[in-house]
Order: sequence, then structure tokens, then C-alpha cells
Amino acid sequence: MDYYDLIIVGGGPAGSTLAWALRDSGKRILIIDKQAFPRDKTCAGWVTPTVFESLGIDAGLYGKNHTLQPIRRFRIGMMGHPAVENDHGDVVSYGIRRYEFDNFLLDRVNADKALDQVVRSIERQGHRWVINDTWETPLLIGAGGHFCPVAKLLGDGPGGHETVVAAKEVEFEMTPQQTADCKARGDTPELWFCRDLKGYAWVFRKGNFLNIGLGREDNHKLSDHLNSFVEEMVANGRIPADLPGRFKGHAYLLYSHAERPLLDDGVMLIGDAAGLAYTQSGEGIRPAVESALLAAQVIRRATDVSAQALQPYGEAIAERFGTRAMHRHDSWQIPHWVRNPLAGTLMRSHWFTRKVVTERWFLHQDIPPLMVAV
Ligand SMILES: Cc1cc2nc3c(=O)[nH]c(=O)nc-3n(C[C@H](O)[C@H](O)[C@H](O)COP(=O)(O)OP(=O)(O)OC[C@H]3O[C@@H](n4cnc5c(N)ncnc54)[C@H](O)[C@@H]3O)c2cc1C
Repeated sequence: MDYYDLIIVGGGPAGSTLAWALRDSGKRILIIDKQAFPRDKTCAGWVTPTVFESLGIDAGLYGKNHTLQPIRRFRIGMMGHPAVENDHGDVVSYGIRRYEFDNFLLDRVNADKALDQVVRSIERQGHRWVINDTWETPLLIGAGGHFCPVAKLLGDGPGGHETVVAAKEVEFEMTPQQTADCKARGDTPELWFCRDLKGYAWVFRKGNFLNIGLGREDNHKLSDHLNSFVEEMVANGRIPADLPGRFKGHAYLLYSHAERPLLDDGVMLIGDAAGLAYTQSGEGIRPAVESALLAAQVIRRATDVSAQALQPYGEAIAERFGTRAMHRHDSWQIPHWVRNPLAGTLMRSHWFTRKVVTERWFLHQDIPPLMVAV
């Protein structure tokens, strides 16, 4: 049996960031992921600049060898209505490809990695966790995304009825003909809200790659919503008609709907495993990275791995993201105050779409980057 000071299940942004943040802690760390890297992850690939700052990555250098689409403008509308375009002047965000980005983050980590290995069994033996009868540790980190096996150990929380966001997406490299047929511009992602405001779709071009998707607060008729959105975009010439491949689906939790416990004796959850994605936008990379940084700080300071010693992590998350499950009856992105007869008018307003939708809900410009001393 191989012993580690901590074992991280999941090598996505949450898991790799935690191992990176503990790089000189002297701890023996193992990251297990069921996939070999690089791997695809269903995601629009939108990353705010604060994420690069928190991760200590120079975006310019990253962009030399990887797809990095600077974003300066947004095109926002309600489906079936004309869109509003706002120019933010400067670069306010980036587009990345998760295939590259997650691999970059994992590759720079100098921990042991067991990739292409599914976590099949987790057993408690005394004060240790035994994984797949092969590895043991006193501290197990769940970073395996929404369906993380470590999160399953901790259960769903008091209500047991969390609202799950369902999303479908496709990303592909356009042919020269498709590039010519595509009116969507790289520096101007498009956000199209469903008419009932229970979700939104996006068209996001990153260089020659095109990412199209739609997320809603429930799975009901998700494909119907997606199909009619795609038809509308094709009819308007915004995307090419011959989309290749299938749209891939995925589900995840938004922070204010999640009730999952964040920790227990010898176990902590970070990223999507903990249900941390921002409620208004569904952005989950930043909360994944920030929760990992906060967890690293607590792990460094903890004198043991009891729930009591790890509790500062729960407090740090509440301080950073607010109290959990406070608004679980709210719908997903859009607060109730917007859901009134004026919604259509608001979505045609340059002021509202820029100041509220983009700068507050999607860019979180009011929240400074998390720079944790580790
Ligand atoms: C359609 C869609 C679009 C999105 N767009 C954006 C966006 O543009 N910007 C943004 O910030 N967020 C976006 N998100 C959310 C974002 O993708 C997640 O919040 C983010 O990936 C969370 O990172 P993570 O490290 O917690 O989990 P993940 O990135 O999901 O990584 C979890 C890892 O755990 C591994 N794993 C799972 N189970 C096991 C197991 N049993 N054994 C071993 N390994 C396991 C998986 O292989 C995976 O590599 C989107 C989500 C969806 C569904």
C-alpha cells in the first residue's frame, strides 16, 4: 500500500491548483484522475483574468503556445430578439480550450499522478482512507467534479434536493469554409438568454475553434431549447450550418443551490465537487481555483485532519462566496427582481447588459483576485 499525506481525486483546475499551492509544503501528494491528460472537458472555456493572477500565470506567455482568445466586447440578447453589443475597450476576459488549459495546470505540478485510473473504492480504515486497495492517506480531497466519488461519501446535505444545472456544448475547429460562414467574432462572445430566463446559450469563438452551448436550470427539453437556438443562429449566419459531431451534456451545481457539506474528518471538497460555480453565470473555474487556494492555506496550518481542524476552510468559503443554500429556491442565473415584464427591455439596455450582466454577473469585476499566501 502506498502512503500519501494527501490524495486528491480529480486533476481538473481544482485538484491541480491544490497540489500546486502545496508544492513546497513537504507533503507527499497523489493526484488520481480517471482520464489520461490532455483530456476534453465540457466547458465554454471562458476564464476571467483574475484566474491567471491567482494561478501566477502570465497570460501573454501562456498565449504563446496555447489558444488564448482575448475578449473586449460582448453581444447579449434574448433569443428571438435583436442583440446589444457593448465595447469594454480593454481586454476584460479570455477564452481558453480546456483540453490545453487543464493539461498545462496539471503538467506543471510536481506531485505523483495516477492518471487513467478510476477511483472505484474508498474505504475508511481507522484514521486512514484506502483508495482502490492501493493507496492510503489520512486526508482525502474530493476534486472530481459534480459526480466526484468523494462527494458521494459526504452525501447531499440537509435538503437533499439541490437544483442541478444541465448544459450541452460542442467545440470544434472550423474548416476554412466554416470560418468564412461564421459571423461570430473571437473577441466578442455572444450570450443569448432563454425567453423564460431559466438559462442562456452562448456562441464563443476562440481563434479557429467554435464553442456553442446552452445551459438551463433543469434538464427538461434541454435539447429542444438547444435545437431551436442553433436553428436561429444558423438562419442569422452567426454560426456555420454544418456543425460536426454531437453536443455533449454535463450537469453541475451552482453555489447558492448547493447543500453539500464541504468537509468532515479527514476529507474536504473543492471545486465542482463542492458545488461552487457562480450562480448568475455558471462560471466554475474561478471558484474551483479559489477553493483550492483556500483549502491549501487551511491544510498548511491545520495541526491534524479532524473536521474541527479543517473547519476554517468552511468559514473561508462562506466568507469568500457567501452563505450556502440561502437562495436555493431562486432560479439559476437570473434573480427574481429581473424576472418581470421589463426583462425584455432590460436585456436591450446597454447600461443593464454592460454594468449588471457582463461586469457584475459574468466578470465579477467587483471581486478582486484571491491571492493566498501559500
Ligand atoms: C457546458 C459547460 C460550460 C461551462 N463553461 C464554463 C466557462 O466558460 N467558464 C467557467 O469558469 N466554467 C464553466 N463551466 C464550469 C466548469 O467547467 C467547472 O466548474 C470546472 O471544470 C470545475 O473544475 P473542477 O476541477 O472542480 O472539476 P473538473 O474540471 O470537472 O475536473 C474533475 C476531474 O475529476 C476526474 N474524476 C471524476 N470522477 C473520477 C473518479 N471516479 N476517479 C478519478 N477521477 C475522477 C475527472 O476526469 C476530471 O478530470 C462550464 C460547465 C459546463 C457543463
